[in-house]
Amino acid sequence: MNVEQTDILIIGAGPAGALAAALLRRQGRQVTVIEREVFPRFSIGESLLPQSMGLLEEAGLLQDVIEAGFQYKNGAAFVRGQTQTAFDFRDKSTPGWGTTYQVQRARFDQVLADAAARLGADIRYGHQVLAADVDGARPTLSVRAPDGASYRIAGRFLLDASGFGRTLPRLLQLETPSDFPSRGALFTHVEDGIRPGAAGFDRNKIRVTVHPRHCDVWYWLIPFSDGRSSIGVVATTGFLERFEGNDTERLQALVAEDPGLSHLLDQAVWDTPARHIVGYAANVRALWGRGYALLGNAGEFLDPVFSSGVTIALKSASLAAAALRREAAGETVDWEADYARPLKRGVDTFRAFVRAWYDGRFQQIIFHPYKTPAISRMISAILAGYAWDGDNPFVAEPERRLASLEAACDWGN
Ligand code: FAD
Repeated sequence: MNVEQTDILIIGAGPAGALAAALLRRQGRQVTVIEREVFPRFSIGESLLPQSMGLLEEAGLLQDVIEAGFQYKNGAAFVRGQTQTAFDFRDKSTPGWGTTYQVQRARFDQVLADAAARLGADIRYGHQVLAADVDGARPTLSVRAPDGASYRIAGRFLLDASGFGRTLPRLLQLETPSDFPSRGALFTHVEDGIRPGAAGFDRNKIRVTVHPRHCDVWYWLIPFSDGRSSIGVVATTGFLERFEGNDTERLQALVAEDPGLSHLLDQAVWDTPARHIVGYAANVRALWGRGYALLGNAGEFLDPVFSSGVTIALKSASLAAAALRREAAGETVDWEADYARPLKRGVDTFRAFVRAWYDGRFQQIIFHPYKTPAISRMISAILAGYAWDGDNPFVAEPERRLASLEAACDWGN
């Protein structure tokens, strides 16, 4: 079979793939993106972090996102029973964007992919990668086209941005278990019916509600700009299995367990069947190999609680594109030192925060009545996505900082 040739081959046109495609086109590279779905298509992951704005800006995609009219977002609100606390991302210790958007991903992903295509990326929708060979001189993919015909395509370099599809990790046996227990989510979009000025509610923030009795079970409410909201619940798979019925009935039963959330949503119209996703936390033994690298969720996915997924996906694309630019300029690139390690730094910051969320330490800290403004600004910076800022002590030593802060909260109680 003839093998088609390209320069940079990308699997997946989600945020990681589209951003990488745009950056590489700006470097003048030939880019071919193989995307299984036809856009627009639904995707989960709707609350962005401000750090992502700088990454979109760097690729020249920010204006397209601004013009799409998504819901403005300036922070995160956390609610547990009658207690509520909020972080305003504009008040943070790291310089940079302090606001962002809450996005319907079908539209957001299309906006990014369309912009990458306008820059000259060849995006092949409805084409699915079936096999990968990375042992030859050039990484080569076997692809099934929408008409059912198969073809092979080789690139000088291959970026796997296939997200939860985890194409190379599956095909090259790179997968390793996540450090986190198997959790799942039930979610949908509703016509939210939330009254303007509803007490304690701010449309410009994601609202994270802790279940009244189980501190490791939490709900997200992500308002959109059109009067609709994304609503979801995250819990261990064992906990979710206790709820019977279809996904909408299970999600409604769970929402009914939190009086504050059910009151807020008492006028909501549940017009879209809920869906579920389970066991999404995943890891790999290496983020790169000869001729290829894994971006975004195709590498590691931790947990949705801090809305870090898209930011990590965009950051990975930015780091990979920078490494490829240096390689093209004749420099030697060490993909471990220049890509994997810098990426993991921020991922590890979020890992410490996620761990502290589920064992209760982070909740203890944020719901504590006394927080010093300096510490709040450092935490706000992490929650805004600046998890790579080495000047922030919570990035330099996240575990130690969280432990000492939690101890101080205990003492203050
Ligand atoms: P994706 O967005 O998954 O894109 C991958 C693309 O690859 C897809 O279009 C897919 O069709 C394509 N593909 C897959 N396999 C193949 C194949 N074999 N051939 C060709 N194409 C293929 N993140 C946030 O930032 N904010 C949130 O609020 C948030 N909430 C979340 C809630 C839940 C319950 C979960 C599970 C995740 C959440 N995330 C959130 C994470 C977010 O969904 C992901 O981190 C993000 O979508 C990753 O982007 P990506 O580009 O790596 O992959």
